[in-house]
This record gives sequence, structure tokens and C-alpha cells, in this order.
Amino acid sequence: MTNRFSLNGKTAFVTGGSRGIGRAIALGLAEAGANVCLTYREKIGEAEDVVDEIRTRDRRAIALKMDVTDRASVEAAAQCAREALGAISILINNAGINKPEDFDKVSEADWDFILAANLRGPFTCAQVFLPMIADAGGGSIVHIGSVSGQYGGPRTAHYAASKAGLISLAQVIARHGAQYNVRSNTVAAGLIASGMAASALAAPSVQKAAETILLKRLGTTQEVADAVVFLASDASSYITAQTLNVNGGLYF
Ligand code: NDP
Repeated sequence: MTNRFSLNGKTAFVTGGSRGIGRAIALGLAEAGANVCLTYREKIGEAEDVVDEIRTRDRRAIALKMDVTDRASVEAAAQCAREALGAISILINNAGINKPEDFDKVSEADWDFILAANLRGPFTCAQVFLPMIADAGGGSIVHIGSVSGQYGGPRTAHYAASKAGLISLAQVIARHGAQYNVRSNTVAAGLIASGMAASALAAPSVQKAAETILLKRLGTTQEVADAVVFLASDASSYITAQTLNVNGGLYF
């Protein structure tokens, strides 16, 4: 019997796979059988370490420098990934940034900066990759959202708005992608023990939110990756346009 959770024979592209949640996702996809292209913006050493780790699992992997805010760089990376690893059927829109600040202190420049990376970036990546995934016979796009985009995350006007927009973007992509057998879903992560959470947790308002987590702990990057692997696999073949909350019961 075929294992519908397996990603054997598939190739995935993970934006921002050099560290944090993206790193766990790249490793999780490889563990499930996929070959993986992961991207980094600056941290080439960390990205190469992930590639080495994937190769020890007997999967093919490459790391490419790419900025999601620069369409030419996304197009170049997509072409390079296809030439190196073959047809791509999984896109993980993971790359994202945050800059916690009180609402009245958020500058227009920071607003544009965060929205360009967290919302226009996934839009650009999906526009570039969707035709490639369609050519491969279909596949799955998973966007890494945040509980911030569901409950007006404290001290993150721009970030919360970008992640709320991402949920809607994922639904639009699902509507458009269905005719090509391409699914699109969001994994909305809660407070996850990784780089981004460390700075956010310094704020008392975020600490207060953490106290309300039903499971009484932060999530791990592995727990986010597990949900992503499921949504990337055929085991989720009837799931599209949905948001899967991985937040320990912080928001429901
Ligand atoms: P990290 O800051 O640890 O990693 C961010 C990754 O994105 C890095 O690989 C970085 O590359 C890359 N990146 C940043 N900006 C760009 C850009 N413009 N173009 C391409 N790549 C870029 O973040 P996390 O792992 O914490 O977060 C990953 C995703 O999960 C984000 O979308 C975030 O919003 C979301 N999330 C995180 C939560 C948390 O608690 N940590 C909670 C909810 C959601 P490089 O290493 O080269 O700088």
C-alpha cells in the first residue's frame, strides 16, 4: 500500500530555509522523502549546513541566495532549482520578518519593509512557482502564517496585518490553483521557540499571551514542520484554502 504521507520522488522549494522554522521544514520534508531547494538571504553558512544534513539522509539538496522582495531573484532561483533538481511540486512560503513596535511608533518605512517581505514576497513566489507546479501535474503550496494575523498580535501592526493578508492570499491562490491541481493552505504558528519568538517574548504583552497557551509551553520548530509536511503530502489531498493552527491552544 502506498504511504500517502510520503514525499518520495517529490521536490520542494523552501524560502528562508537557513534557520529557525524554515530549517526544520526543509529537514522535515527531506525526512519524508523529498529533495529540497532551500533559500537564504545572508546566512550562507547556516544554509549549507542544512544542505549537508539533508544529504546525509540520502536526499538531494541545494541552497540558493534569494530575496523574496526581488522578483528577478525569485525567478532566477526558481529556474536554477528546476535545472538542478527537476520538476518542483511543493512550495513553502516560509521567509518572513518582524520588527515588534507599539502601534503609534510604527513608521511607514517599516510598514512597507515588513509587508514587502511577508505579503508581497509570498505573492511573488506563488506567481512564479504556480505554473511550474502545474507543469509538474499539480502539488501543494504552504504558507507560514501566524496567530498574530488572527488575533491582532500585540506590538506588531505591520506583521499582524501581513499575516492576516497571507491567509486571504492563500485562499485566492487555492481558488486559482484548483484548476491546475494545486492546493494552497496556511499553517498559522503560535509562539514557537525560534529566533523570531526570542525578541517578541521580551515584551510583557507577549509574555501575557504566552501564559494563556493551553498546553503551557512554546511550540517547537519541529511541530510546525510536521504540519507543513502533512499539508505538502497526498495525505491532505482534500484540504485546500484552509488555515491549520499550530499554537498549543493559544487561539481557537
Ligand atoms: P527566522 O528569523 O529564524 O528566519 C527567517 C528566515 O527567512 C531566514 O532563513 C532568513 O534568511 C529568511 N529571510 C528573511 N527575510 C527574507 C527575504 N526578504 N527574502 C528571503 N529570505 C528571507 O524566522 P522564524 O523561523 O522564526 O520564522 C519563519 C516564519 O515563521 C516567518 O514567516 C514567521 O513570520 C513565521 N512565524 C514565526 C513564529 C515564531 O514564533 N518564531 C510564529 C509564527 C509565525 P537569512 O537566514 O539568510 O537571514
